[in-house]
Amino acid sequence: VAQTTRKRAAAVAVAVIAVADLLLSRRAWSRPAIALLDEPAHAATTWLIAQALAPQHTPAAQLASTLLDADHVPSELGSDVLRRGAARPFGHTGAAVVALALVSRGAALGAAAHLVRDLADDVGVSLAWPLSGRAQRIPRGLYYALALTLAARAARPTGAPAPPRPAP
Ligand SMILES: [Zn+2]
Repeated sequence: VAQTTRKRAAAVAVAVIAVADLLLSRRAWSRPAIALLDEPAHAATTWLIAQALAPQHTPAAQLASTLLDADHVPSELGSDVLRRGAARPFGHTGAAVVALALVSRGAALGAAAHLVRDLADDVGVSLAWPLSGRAQRIPRGLYYALALTLAARAARPTGAPAPPRPAP
């Protein structure tokens, strides 16, 4: 991706996350509204992480990250089949990321990037399922710090060091 485009995309990604989380924190939205606000923020998070770790896998990562939430459908329909004892359905576990890695590194990257955002909310992620259903969480501030760091990194010219600070 061209440098200017990457710079813009990085800024857009941060803005999408900020706006989504601001709106989400404002009121109790309906489930479909939450999904509409949350998915773009997942896509933005995944883009930032994929750009930093493996830009060539970005399309597969985006696809997997978006599709991952399809495992919420049974719960939304009132079935517990995909989330017995886990904080979120089984697609949202460390085991699922490992299983995906056997099939596609890009898909595994996308699923892992999706979990980074889910780890930062109140529900958390049962990373160690099926060994343990206990939910893990990371502080929201850490997630935002990560997003900002990755955005700054993505906006930098490829391979170039950070610009030197002027002497005081
Ligand atoms: Zn999710």
